[in-house]
Amino acid sequence: MKKESGKDIFSIKKLLPLFSYQINMGIYVHVPFCRSKCFYCGFYSVASLQLKENYVQSIIREIDIRADYLETRRVSTLYFGGGTPSYLDAQELEVITNKIHKTWDLDKDAECSIEMNPEDATSEKLSMLRKLGFNRLTIGIQTFNDRLLKSINRTHSSLQAIQSIENANNAGFENIGLDLIIGLPGSSAQVLEEDLKIISRLNIDHVSVYILSIDSNSAFEKMLEKKKIEMHADDDLAEQYLMVSDYLKSIGYEHYEISNFAKNCKYSKHNISYWQQKAYIGLGPSAHSFDLKSRQWNISHIKKYIDSLDKGVLLFEKEELTSRDIYNEYLMTNLRTMWGIEYKLVEKEFPQWWSVTRKKMNVYCNEGLMCSTSDRIRLTEKGWLLSDGIFCELFV
Ligand code: SF4
Repeated sequence: MKKESGKDIFSIKKLLPLFSYQINMGIYVHVPFCRSKCFYCGFYSVASLQLKENYVQSIIREIDIRADYLETRRVSTLYFGGGTPSYLDAQELEVITNKIHKTWDLDKDAECSIEMNPEDATSEKLSMLRKLGFNRLTIGIQTFNDRLLKSINRTHSSLQAIQSIENANNAGFENIGLDLIIGLPGSSAQVLEEDLKIISRLNIDHVSVYILSIDSNSAFEKMLEKKKIEMHADDDLAEQYLMVSDYLKSIGYEHYEISNFAKNCKYSKHNISYWQQKAYIGLGPSAHSFDLKSRQWNISHIKKYIDSLDKGVLLFEKEELTSRDIYNEYLMTNLRTMWGIEYKLVEKEFPQWWSVTRKKMNVYCNEGLMCSTSDRIRLTEKGWLLSDGIFCELFV
C-alpha cells in the first residue's frame, strides 16, 4: 500500500487549527433575494424585493420557534448566505442580528460571515457590516472577465469586483474570500489564468473554486437542452482544476478542501462545523437544520414561508438519520478535506462499518487516489477529482 510521509500530507501545522477550534453550534440565515437570477444558479432565491419586509418579520418569528431546537445555546459561527444577503439594508440586518444575539450566546471569537455581491460592497455598507459584528466576507465574483460576467447574467463588472475587495480591505476586514467558477461556457484556460493573476494581486484570504455543474431549475439547464450553450469536456475541466490548485498553492494558499483554498489558516470555521458534524440551525426559506439525529429543511417558497409563520407555523420537512447515514456523511465530508479521516476516531465511532471501508480504501491508495499515514487517510488531489464515484463505492 502506498504511504506518503506524514510531514508532507498531514503536517501538524495543518492539523492543529482544525482540531483546536472548539465549535459549538452554527447558525445559517438564508436571504432569498437577488437582483436577477444568474444563469448557472439553482439556489432558492427570487428576483424581487416585494416581500423583503415581511421576510425579516418571519425570520424573527422563526427564531422564536427555533430558540430551543438544540440543547446548547452557544453559537460559534453565524453565516448569512443566499440569495444576496447584502441586499438587506442596515436596519433589516440589525433587526435580525439583534434578535440572534438576544436568543443565543455568540462566542466572543465567533466567526460571523456574510455573502456580498461586488456592487453592494460600498465603503458605507462595509463599515455598517463591521459595526454589526461581521468579521468575514465572501464576495461572489465568479470571474473577472467582463464578457463572461455578462454571459452568466451577473450584475457587476470586473472593475467593481476589484474595487469591492479594496473597499473591504480599507474597511478593516481581515478575512475576505471570493468565489471562482471553472468551466463557464465560453471560458478557457487562458481566461482562468488571467483571473488567477488578478487574485494574486489582491489581498484576500480565501478562495472557493467550483467546477460548473448544471443545476436543475437554472437557466443554463434550459439553454443546454436547446443547445444554446456548450459544456467543457471533463478532461479539460480536470486540467483546469489542477492548474488552479497549483497556481493558488504557488502563491501561498492551502488547498484545504476539495473546493476551498485558504491563506494563513483562515479556513471557513462555518464549513468546518459541517465537516465535524456539529449541530446547526438554518433560518429562512429552504434553509436546513441538523440536531445530530435528524435533518430538517424549510419550505423553498418565500410566500408560503411568510404566510405560515404569520399563523405561527413553520413549514418544513424532516428526515431521521440512521447511523449508516451519519457514517456516510462523515466519510464524504471528511474525505473532502485535506485532514481526511482519523483512524482512532472512526474506529471508535463506527466500528461496525470501518473495516470494510478500510479494505476498499487500500485499493484507492494503490491507485494513487488516496494516501495515508499511520493515523490518517485522505484523498489525493487526483482522488478529489474522482470523488463522486469514490464516495459511491465507499458508502455503506
Ligand atoms: S448566484 Fe447568488 S446572486 Fe446569482 S442568482 Fe444565485 S444566489 Fe442570486
